[in-house]
Amino acid sequence: MAGEINPFASLQSQIDEAATYLDVDDDVIERLKHPERVLETNLTVELDDGSLERFKAFRAQFNGDRGPYKGGIRYHPQVSRDEVKALSGWMTYKTAIVDIPLGGGKGGIVVDPADYSETELERLTRTFATELTPIIGEDKDIPAPDVNTGQREMNWIKDTYETLENTTEPGVITGKNLASGGSEGRVEATGRSTVIAAREAFDYLDKDLEGATVAVQGYGNAGWIAAKLIDEMGATVVAASDSSGGIYNADGFDPVAAKTHKNETGSVVGYPEADEEITNEDVLTLDVDLLIPAALENAIDGGLAEDVEADVISEAANGPLTPEADRVLEDEDVFVIPDILANAGGVTVSYFEWVQNRQRFYWSEQKVNAELEETIVDAFDALVDAIEENELDNPRTGAYVVAIQRVANAFGEAGSFP
Ligand code: GLU
Repeated sequence: MAGEINPFASLQSQIDEAATYLDVDDDVIERLKHPERVLETNLTVELDDGSLERFKAFRAQFNGDRGPYKGGIRYHPQVSRDEVKALSGWMTYKTAIVDIPLGGGKGGIVVDPADYSETELERLTRTFATELTPIIGEDKDIPAPDVNTGQREMNWIKDTYETLENTTEPGVITGKNLASGGSEGRVEATGRSTVIAAREAFDYLDKDLEGATVAVQGYGNAGWIAAKLIDEMGATVVAASDSSGGIYNADGFDPVAAKTHKNETGSVVGYPEADEEITNEDVLTLDVDLLIPAALENAIDGGLAEDVEADVISEAANGPLTPEADRVLEDEDVFVIPDILANAGGVTVSYFEWVQNRQRFYWSEQKVNAELEETIVDAFDALVDAIEENELDNPRTGAYVVAIQRVANAFGEAGSFP
């Protein structure tokens, strides 16, 4: 992993690249390259043994021109100020490409949750929620799950906020469990959009998804659901990996059984139906029809990109390719469905959850999935139009052309204050 590549610099270079195709003033582009504000805070939390520990945490509110800031909160040792700034920018352009009325934000705590008990994590989460309470709200900033957070953490944040504010406001956060006001289909939504986008790309490229081979890097919530759904569409999952390593079977394996094995043992490694052990790097460079990077940013740098053999990449993770990798893959005619579209299912169903929370009227899973399908297909069509109109070789640039224009339009219409 190219840890030295700064994701915020990557975001800015992606914006600059797209700006060359846009008739948007440089001073507006400059605004769209920086977060409006970043909260940096130190959380002091009591551990189970009575000692205190300090944790650094951030919330970046990148852009609110199209609606309240929106984006997840991750718990990871690699969280940094620049990482959340980048991720909040990607959220801004993600909500714009799928055209939902939200802005972009992101937060994180520098912590490896595996090192702490559930009660310690609850105190940590509630302490962060207390810091966030003045700046979040269903019309201000709406957090959600991200790497290493899920329904449990969202429920704690909602409860802390509602207690402090003496209100009921389930739409203050999304990704909650159903009993706390969550939406049907939210857990699967990121993986679902990754495969809908892949299906659309195969169709656009006149490639057959039936029987296509697939490698999935990262077997968390996004990766494993994508594996399961692409298998249901008739493709063959031949490789998967997690932080402990990778597995391979040229004839394919059952992605659900591989997940069960991971649940039982902590890793996909050792899953008997795919007993050829390969490295994480091997998974990324296999000769497959579709590669789904579903772990962290910078998984593929320029050097590794030279060895990538996939025809299509659908980015379930945020920022898995460095800008250098993007250039290499563009030269090699690999069709990369950018993260801001491929993984936008998560925030799209978060938007549906927020709508349901505000209306106090809940949808069936079928309705959620049908609305998600339409949203992702419309976004893919807008991307194809941008690629063709501007004669672009890199779909990421096409996605940013559409997204930046939408944010710039909202800013332009509103004007600036004072
Ligand atoms: N963390 C997810 C993302 O990166 C979901 C964000 C949300 O639902 O607000 O898109």
